[in-house]
Amino acid sequence: TSFDTHPLKPALLASLDTLGYATMTPVQAQALPPMLQGRDVIVQAQTGSGKTAAFGLALLQAIEVESIRLQALVLCPTRELADQVSKVIRKLAAGIPNVKLLTLCGGMPLGPQLASLAHDPHIVVGTPGRVQEHLKRGSLHGGGVKVLVLDEADRMLDMGFAEAIDDIVKRIARHHQTLLLSATYPEEIRAVSGRLQRDPVTVTV
Ligand code: AMP
Repeated sequence: TSFDTHPLKPALLASLDTLGYATMTPVQAQALPPMLQGRDVIVQAQTGSGKTAAFGLALLQAIEVESIRLQALVLCPTRELADQVSKVIRKLAAGIPNVKLLTLCGGMPLGPQLASLAHDPHIVVGTPGRVQEHLKRGSLHGGGVKVLVLDEADRMLDMGFAEAIDDIVKRIARHHQTLLLSATYPEEIRAVSGRLQRDPVTVTV
């Protein structure tokens, strides 16, 4: 269960070393292989399981820095979670030069976000309403998205974000990988997975 048995970019292995992550958590051991193969994955896991690093590594492995366009989109239920997720991804990305990550959340002024979006970021972490707004107004372009992450999907549904998520998916590249993370697995999550994922691998811990 060491990370270096996986085909990760050397810069990512170096970051893991710096962070002191010697072995994978159970969620990472189960979820990382299908994520790195490009499969759609459902991860039923709680906070503390190491789920953030799992999808963070998968999306950092997938992005090509030379291509200046949005390639990974992470949707979170709250600004607090989006900030935490951004921090983890930034740490994992520390060894990859020129990766641009933006956090786009509701409740924050639009002006600075629009200024930051003058040049496309590789990665966006944000809340569904604000991400949808940027896609609609054309300040964010979804045509190059390779990986879509729905973090704490059950909470996003509880907060009424289902419609925003469906609309976002219509505005991004048709062919993308969808990683869905949820602490619980009720019927509504099954329905979202059915709508948005293709032949998903399910990981439960
Ligand atoms: P999460 O479930 O994503 O909120 O992560 C929970 C905590 O586990 C965070 O504080 C991470 O820094 C830590 N963590 C994630 N992966 C590993 C790992 N492979 N080894 C040690 N700590 C880890």
